[in-house]
Amino acid sequence: MSIQNQFNAQQAFFNTNTTKPYAFRYQMLSKLEATIKTHQAEFETAIFKDLHKSPFELYATEVGFVLRSIREAKRDLKKWMRVKKEKTPFFQIGSKSFKMAEPLGTVLIIGPFNYPFQLVVEALVGAIAAGNTVIIKPSELTEHTEKAMAKHFNAAFEPTYLSVVTGGIETTQELIQLPFDHIFFTGSTKVGQIVYQAAAKNLTPVTLELGGKSPTIVDATAKLAVAARRIVYGKYLNAGQTCIAPDYIYVEKSIEAAFLEELKKAIEQFYPAQTDDLSHIVSLRHLERLKGLIDPEKVFYTQESQGAQRMAPTVMRNVTWSDKVMQEEIFGPILPVLTFNSLDEVIIKIKSQPKPLALYLFTESQAAEKKVFEELSFGGGAINDTIMHVANPHLPFGGIGASGIGKYHGKTSFDTFSHHKAFMKKTTLFDPKVLYPPYDDKAVSMIKKVLK
Ligand code: NAD
Repeated sequence: MSIQNQFNAQQAFFNTNTTKPYAFRYQMLSKLEATIKTHQAEFETAIFKDLHKSPFELYATEVGFVLRSIREAKRDLKKWMRVKKEKTPFFQIGSKSFKMAEPLGTVLIIGPFNYPFQLVVEALVGAIAAGNTVIIKPSELTEHTEKAMAKHFNAAFEPTYLSVVTGGIETTQELIQLPFDHIFFTGSTKVGQIVYQAAAKNLTPVTLELGGKSPTIVDATAKLAVAARRIVYGKYLNAGQTCIAPDYIYVEKSIEAAFLEELKKAIEQFYPAQTDDLSHIVSLRHLERLKGLIDPEKVFYTQESQGAQRMAPTVMRNVTWSDKVMQEEIFGPILPVLTFNSLDEVIIKIKSQPKPLALYLFTESQAAEKKVFEELSFGGGAINDTIMHVANPHLPFGGIGASGIGKYHGKTSFDTFSHHKAFMKKTTLFDPKVLYPPYDDKAVSMIKKVLK
């Protein structure tokens, strides 16, 4: 079936209202859960073939991550769907006010390569819970995962309700021209702009989960060994191919040497030379791009690279903003370290950059915490940790400015894929004539009193 015909068929199915009742949504979430559980080994093998993630990462950041989200969505769906009573002002006496979440219609989810399963399915959970029909376009760079999702999701669901479309960039370009009721895109800022422009032609609302350079600040009060371990964890998870990975470190000059030693210690402990725990870089083209970001004279620490598509954890020091590694989002296992003398200078510099998706601060100082979190704008982040805010479904996840538009996770995913229809219900027991023209002086003086 052509993409246009699939889209038309989904719209027609949506218009039958089949997807709206609670029972249908719950049943579809259960089907998604069962499909993933039944073929879990195959999904994990596919993701492994694409990125060589360790068994821990395969479960914690891909399959296990979304199974938990499905469980929680099923648990809370009834509550999320409840029509909510709102307040009504006194002058509207005789009326009651409500908010009702309704599905948007037929939506498109476009995924990136780095968490090729989780980043598609996590959004899908919200789209299903909210009662939409869905077309999914996974990344073509992770072709094993793309094929496994197409095979099992397309077998489990009717294409008029949910379908996985595979193909290259031309396929994505064809999809984004269609008048979807929402496009949920995860990927680079550059492609996000292309998606946004195409969506604008149809006035299609978008969620754009984008990337950028996420800073990490380590001040002189920080507990260095803990900071180093948590930074190394967040940076080298999936070999740095994580949208919220610490992109670069700003460390206070007085503790730079001690902090670098702790970084080295943590890397050697977590990723010894023969480790299987370090993911592959998605393609040789990406590997070449990453190699080009390294200035060999500034390398503080690296290892022998193991295997063709691997890149060793690398730390660079004496880095400045004119280095190549600071000109673009790194998205790989290279960690540049810059230094600062006062927090104000860091804040001024970060403010001059596009607003980041994440920001991390390592400190024991409450004043530093307050200053950084009040003065800097970023999607989300953590004090004395990296990455983990993404795993809390009670926190909305998303960027700001160049790092994205819109949020999801937990109930926020349901809200993202819903329209909260606002309406009032008015009594017919009375109908004061004073509200209607022709208006006399009494009506004018009454409206002045009421709206005062
Ligand atoms: P990408 O933007 O290259 O690709 C994402 C999707 O866009 C793919 O499905 C691809 O088919 C499509 N695409 C690529 N070029 C296109 C074009 N010219 N026209 C139309 N569609 C096109 O992103 P990627 O390389 O797969 O992922 C890495 C980026 O994604 C990083 O910037 C990262 O920070 C970001 N990211 C963000 C989040 C988040 O949650 N905010 C999560 C993961 C990744």
